[in-house]
Amino acid sequence: MPAADTPPFPRQLFIDGAWVDAADGQTFATTNPATEEVIAAVAQAGTEDVDRAVAAARRAFEEGPWPKMSASERGRIVWKIGQILMDRADEVARLETLDNGKPIFESRQIDIPSAADVFFYYAGFATKVHGETFPVSPRSFNYTLREPVGVVAAIVPWNFPLLLASWKVAPALATGCTVVLKPSSNTPLTALLLAEIAAQAGVPPGVLNVLPGPGGVVGDALAIHPAVNKIAFTGETRTGIQIMQKAAATMKKVTLELGGKSPNVILADADLEAAARGAYMGIFYGKGEVCAAGSRLLVEDSIHDPFMEKLIAITRKMQPGDPLDPKTKLGAIVSRKQQDSVMSYVESGKREGARLVAGGETAKVGGKGYFVLPTIFDDVANSMTIAREEIFGPVLATIRFKDEEAALATANDTPYGLAAAIWTKDVKRAHRIARALKAGTVWINTYNQYSAAAAFGGYKMSGLGRELGPHAIDSYTQIKSVWVDLG
Ligand code: NAD
Repeated sequence: MPAADTPPFPRQLFIDGAWVDAADGQTFATTNPATEEVIAAVAQAGTEDVDRAVAAARRAFEEGPWPKMSASERGRIVWKIGQILMDRADEVARLETLDNGKPIFESRQIDIPSAADVFFYYAGFATKVHGETFPVSPRSFNYTLREPVGVVAAIVPWNFPLLLASWKVAPALATGCTVVLKPSSNTPLTALLLAEIAAQAGVPPGVLNVLPGPGGVVGDALAIHPAVNKIAFTGETRTGIQIMQKAAATMKKVTLELGGKSPNVILADADLEAAARGAYMGIFYGKGEVCAAGSRLLVEDSIHDPFMEKLIAITRKMQPGDPLDPKTKLGAIVSRKQQDSVMSYVESGKREGARLVAGGETAKVGGKGYFVLPTIFDDVANSMTIAREEIFGPVLATIRFKDEEAALATANDTPYGLAAAIWTKDVKRAHRIARALKAGTVWINTYNQYSAAAAFGGYKMSGLGRELGPHAIDSYTQIKSVWVDLG
């Protein structure tokens, strides 16, 4: 059970502005991965609940005040969601940490303030979504209206539960869409709290509905539902493909933020101290459960040994701890299943001949929890399973290269294209390589930087469309071309 000082939090479905049980009365347990204890029984939505929630969202879109109210008023409500998130940040962060196992310093200092920031950013956009006029002919006037797409199904994973929900909910609400949000079954709690906060901020009934439940049932029903206009999905590439196929039958707009196997390239002329910290944070931040994690470390031959020495020394100091302790930097893996999956990759690395130089074991804190020690493999070939597949845990695959050309070839030799980083003091070289990397985000002499203002999304199998920044507005709006006869 959560510690006694955890304030009460919602556990039911949120449909049409009301807390309700699942139509069939089902619940499921959500567990604290650091203690292996059940936090709460949460209502488990089924297809009947999907119908109820989509009908509410449809009604709110067609008949409710949300898309019709002044953009300024809507923007103020979206801003207020961010404000309440900040006012209640301690409580929200604690719930995120209990449910996900991530260190409280991450939830409190990064996830929750960043989520609030996404609401602040898109609140400002509400009044800046507009059409244009076009010089079509002397006898006609043509202009565009930029209108909300309608009902959005937002389907999110468990690694940044509230933050990734905010990436979808904030631009959807700002543009006047209505939303059905489906959190991961591993981490349903902060999505429900977001519904409470949105209602507190003045979001009308039906505009934001939240349905915890299994992806194969609730996510699937949303993907095929004829009254849903858009799917905004973050999760595995495999799931994204299924969703895109299902959504095709009703021509839904689809944005997909999928997996990655991002290369972090350390050139010999880099600041090696900074690069070692960047390589360390690039893979071990968030327990490596980060879509853009720098999970393939590419190191130039000539600096390989001194660089790896530095990296291994910092890594060995990183010990798992109680996620609620503000000093903890390495939390618990989200679930037993995910811990097993990470460890199966560690075994595959050993089996395929990579050299284990740090970690490689599970751990417990106070005798409990699904922890994995920060793990580094060296002498990895880019063809090995640990260099090809997304592990989604604290496991780094180190690959040597001999020159820039070889580094680029290896960096791009992956089905994914979510992110990449380069470490070098040579400015020309940095920009040249940034252009040649096939990835949606490139970091130069840094890693894991994000902002509500900066576009994020994948090349190749890492996704479709962009979230954040002004670009997201396109995915939540559609253009109507209006002709007027002036003849
Ligand atoms: P997942 O694909 O298993 O699940 C994501 C969401 O989809 C969950 O809510 C799940 O219940 C739902 N879902 C599962 N099957 C479904 C189906 N058939 N139809 C509809 N919905 C379904 O992913 P996960 O394990 O929760 O998350 C980890 C994955 O997410 C990793 O691959 C990671 O790279 C990716 N990710 C990507 C980004 C990004 O921005 N690109 C960010 C974070 C995580």
